[in-house]
Amino acid sequence: METKHGIPASPGIAIGPALVLDTEGVHIPRRTVPADLIPSELARLQVALHQSTEDSRRREQEMTTRLGKDIGKIFASHALLLSDQALRYDIEMLMKAESYSAEYAVSRCIRSRVKSLDDTGNEIAQRIRADFIDVEKQLLHRLLGARGDSLDLAAENVIVLANDLTPSETAIFNTKTVRAFATESGGPTSHTAILAGALNIPAVVGLGKLLNDVSGGDTVIIDGYEGLIILEPDEATLERYRERLREDEHATDRYESLRDSEAITKDGAVVRLLGNIEFPSEAKACIEKGAGGVGLYRTEFLYVNKTDDPTEDEHYEAYREVLTVLGPNRPVVIRTLDLGADKFSPAGGAPHERNPFLGLRSVRLCLQNRPLFKTQLRAILRASCHGDLRIMFPMVSTVLELRQCLSLLREVEEDLHEAGIDYKPNVPVGTMIEVPSAAIMADVLAKQVSFFSLGTNDLVQYTLAADRNNETVANLYSPVDPSVLRLIHQVAQAGNRQGIEVNVCGEMSGEALYTALLLGLGIRHLSATPRKIPEIKHVIRNLTIPDAERVATDALQMETAREVTTYLRGQLRRFLPDGAD
Ligand code: PEP
Ligand code: MG
Repeated sequence: METKHGIPASPGIAIGPALVLDTEGVHIPRRTVPADLIPSELARLQVALHQSTEDSRRREQEMTTRLGKDIGKIFASHALLLSDQALRYDIEMLMKAESYSAEYAVSRCIRSRVKSLDDTGNEIAQRIRADFIDVEKQLLHRLLGARGDSLDLAAENVIVLANDLTPSETAIFNTKTVRAFATESGGPTSHTAILAGALNIPAVVGLGKLLNDVSGGDTVIIDGYEGLIILEPDEATLERYRERLREDEHATDRYESLRDSEAITKDGAVVRLLGNIEFPSEAKACIEKGAGGVGLYRTEFLYVNKTDDPTEDEHYEAYREVLTVLGPNRPVVIRTLDLGADKFSPAGGAPHERNPFLGLRSVRLCLQNRPLFKTQLRAILRASCHGDLRIMFPMVSTVLELRQCLSLLREVEEDLHEAGIDYKPNVPVGTMIEVPSAAIMADVLAKQVSFFSLGTNDLVQYTLAADRNNETVANLYSPVDPSVLRLIHQVAQAGNRQGIEVNVCGEMSGEALYTALLLGLGIRHLSATPRKIPEIKHVIRNLTIPDAERVATDALQMETAREVTTYLRGQLRRFLPDGAD
């Protein structure tokens, strides 16, 4: 048995036989064809270009219907590259001048474009590079025949292992036959990872060298929660994961019936349970899972597959879509752009920084790039007419920064007013608390906003100086480290004293283990991945506030994250004797 650590890209557990794909770098030998065969070779190229363009257009439509416009766009840009006259001209010229075969000329032309985009460090260039690689594979599949839809034909419930997967390859996964996937390369914000999340397939990326250690048909386990792959698991590990799989399936079925019930404790305290989304297409899932609204809409995902910054209308349309789905009575918290560091960069790229997590990112970047910020704020305000919209600023680290955001928002309101453009006045405005300095100053910040949202993913990373994406310091990264608990408590108290809402929207709000603790610390608003909402509702409905407060009081006395975690496990079993773990 061997366990490898990668980056969790999409949650869930899968156990099954490996299907190892040799997708990386199809090697095309340098082949020439006799001069009299060049015309037929050119015709072959033309057919391949045409068919691949059609495939991409078809996929764009399918994916737009299935997963929404943002995902569809990935394939629209493939179609654009495939029908690019300059690319076609270059390939044809190379074939005519050197008598190269169509495959070899395609490969040479596209590789040279990919090479020119290598190592630029610019995120947009990297995305175009990924599009070129995808398009090359599509063309080679067409020219070489047979390889095309091998994944569609996978008959068994397989776990796909590959060096890397392009979005096109991921998109043709039949979710009934492909249980999960794992790749040697890739990061959590790659298109492929985002697609896996949208398709609801467990996935781990960035595993490093893997394919030499596994053969097709070997049993493997994918743990998409922890970012693990386990090769040739022993019987005890298999049994442990089978049990977790059963629990996952059971949890989904068991709590589905709670959809229309209130998130209310046994002693009558109402908890607001909301959903986190990245794409407008996910808004529907919030309602299906029984969320009372959207507590966090991460708008930087508007940058997926974009070479330019989104226009005001693109922002507006996305927000309007979400608000329309949620209707007039469910709040939608739109977070302004949280670009930089682990997320997307604005068009033109972010400046090279030695330490981007502590650099010009998120609201800092927006405040230094006012046209970008104002464009988004205008769109948000315009969309406010379509529902119960709220605005939230990310990564605020000082009081002055928050004041600057608020004053810019007022400026934009005045502009709209003067231009006679409709917007809802006095939209509630909140700030994320995800930097320790903001948590420490919460009593002052609370006077300026209508709500707080604790971004525990970042709060943990900045409090403990432990990168949230770095496996080697994962032992330090815990949302229940006593230092973090004290900050959460302090923020909840400051917010409650001021009478404003205090939400938690980091991943910990979707973990049943932490629900009692958060309620006990004074939190009454939780925003989680929609999939997690029924289970959290179930926990809430089995608690009383005095139970939760006792848990929080006990946890706040403890000195290490490990002690708190062990204690919470025991408590959860007490509240849910019917089998939660
Ligand atoms: C957080 O930091 O907890 C958060 C919700 O924001 P993100 O995960 O998008 O950084
Ligand atoms: Mg954050």
